[in-house]
Amino acid sequence: MVVNADNKQVKTIAVVGGGSSGWMTACLLNARLNEDPRRPVTITLIEAPNIPVIGVGEATVPSIRRTLKAIGISEKAFMIGADATFKSLIRFEDWNKGEHFDHPFDRRERPNSDPAVLSWLARNQMGGEGFSNRFSVLSNTSTKGLAPKALGWPEYQSTFPYAYHLDAVKLGKVLTEFGTENGIAHKLAKIVNVEISEAGDIEALVSEDGASYRADLYVDCTGFSAHLAKHIMPETQDYSEHLLCDRAVTMSVPYEVHRPDRILPYTSAKALGAGWLWDINLRSRRSLGYVHSSAHLSSDEAEAELRVIEGRHADNIEVKHIRFKTYKRNKSWHRNCLAIGLADGFVEPLESTGLYMMQFAAQSVADILRFNRHFDAATTNQFNKLMQTLFDEILGYVALHYLTSKRRDTPFWKDATASHRTPAALQNLLKEWKKRPPHDVDLLSNHRLFSLESYEYLLFGMGYMSEGQINAAPVVFDQTDMLNKVYAKFPEHEDWLSSTLGHIK
Ligand SMILES: Cc1cc2nc3c(=O)[nH]c(=O)nc-3n(C[C@H](O)[C@H](O)[C@H](O)COP(=O)(O)OP(=O)(O)OC[C@H]3O[C@@H](n4cnc5c(N)ncnc54)[C@H](O)[C@@H]3O)c2cc1C
Repeated sequence: MVVNADNKQVKTIAVVGGGSSGWMTACLLNARLNEDPRRPVTITLIEAPNIPVIGVGEATVPSIRRTLKAIGISEKAFMIGADATFKSLIRFEDWNKGEHFDHPFDRRERPNSDPAVLSWLARNQMGGEGFSNRFSVLSNTSTKGLAPKALGWPEYQSTFPYAYHLDAVKLGKVLTEFGTENGIAHKLAKIVNVEISEAGDIEALVSEDGASYRADLYVDCTGFSAHLAKHIMPETQDYSEHLLCDRAVTMSVPYEVHRPDRILPYTSAKALGAGWLWDINLRSRRSLGYVHSSAHLSSDEAEAELRVIEGRHADNIEVKHIRFKTYKRNKSWHRNCLAIGLADGFVEPLESTGLYMMQFAAQSVADILRFNRHFDAATTNQFNKLMQTLFDEILGYVALHYLTSKRRDTPFWKDATASHRTPAALQNLLKEWKKRPPHDVDLLSNHRLFSLESYEYLLFGMGYMSEGQINAAPVVFDQTDMLNKVYAKFPEHEDWLSSTLGHIK
């Protein structure tokens, strides 16, 4: 019900789109807004039966645990249903002179300018893989192929933060079942017309079969087509000057076809001639994707390269070619239309941030509406700032992987590492980090996805270090005792999965 032109009350929400963003948003809003049965909000999810979901989105960050818990689904049911495994870190290979380095999720409580870190820097001014080995437990457990938690520990809990690898299509099914059982109305209908009032609000959605859908708030989760948002807030910003990749060729290799030696508890991101390759191990299959730049490599060439890397056992496996763009909608929320997921923006999946952005958006909307179910222009302006800040942070952090690499061996790497590709917010920082290590003062936003440690793992892993000599007193930081305790408790990743979830094919 519209209270006045600028102040709206929300009793009904229509979420359009049945991909991960649609179902994640609908389930989160349902769980958070319908906690209080005296003020129910009716949530309807409308999804086109014939438009497929994008079907990728397999690596996550640790906040997914909080989201799934808030939705109310059990970890075991989710992991079985979504073919999920654990993810403790991302291992970057060949981003710099053949060495690998890790971006693990564990963070040590420690002061800025930690004497142990300075002491390590004074001795290792070339950087490299040693930093995460020295300072992260998960980097060590991952190398040994261990799970990030012990058997029998409570759901969603461990002493270390962890995330999952999952099958995005199966996650959608898990959430569909859970959401519909918990009161979300599910309609299979393709929206073909968006009726807009003179003031610029959506008045109704009309489907192919002539049905009309009305709500107080409309959430556009229709993916890159942004079927609602393109009418209400069409302006978008293209960020492809900062990140060159715009295609992915993906392949699924079932374990019946080829079984790796171990089911890795981490995402592998290996740099190739015109981009990078993800290798993600789920419970029943491996997922591979060559993310590349179409200006430097054709889709056919990328597929051929992927097939050579994977080997003859994949000869009969079909691949999927996906086009994407690095972009952000100028407004994520305008009047009674809100865009979440690919409809709002996208940054290549190097740091697994797609699902995070939608969880963050849905969670924030739930927090905003929970109090009095109202929104107005001030609400939407504030939300838009929040989403732009998050996007800028993610864009900058992902761009850093290219900007700090020393690779110049192909036209792609020469182009991707060029200094004019640096986002404005990083231009001074990259100069500063050549003089001194990164510090919390460099990272301003309150809503940071990437902590100071994330910047350290990346910059020191890449060998992007202070050029002058660092003088620091020697400090011994020894995690041997901690590691030995963890090794004694945490089982092999595969053992955890089969003991807790059942047999792995
Ligand atoms: C190559 C690639 C790799 C990725 N990897 C990761 C990753 O590892 N980790 C991660 O977190 N994220 C990743 N992402 C992002 C992730 O895939 C998406 O964020 C996520 O799947 C959400 O997609 P979506 O729901 O917004 O859109 P989609 O999955 O495209 O869903 C769109 C939905 O809208 C419906 N629809 C469309 N038009 C209409 C209409 N007119 N009427 C009704 N319904 C309609 C469709 O039927 C569909 O249900 C990746 C993305 C790409 C491109």
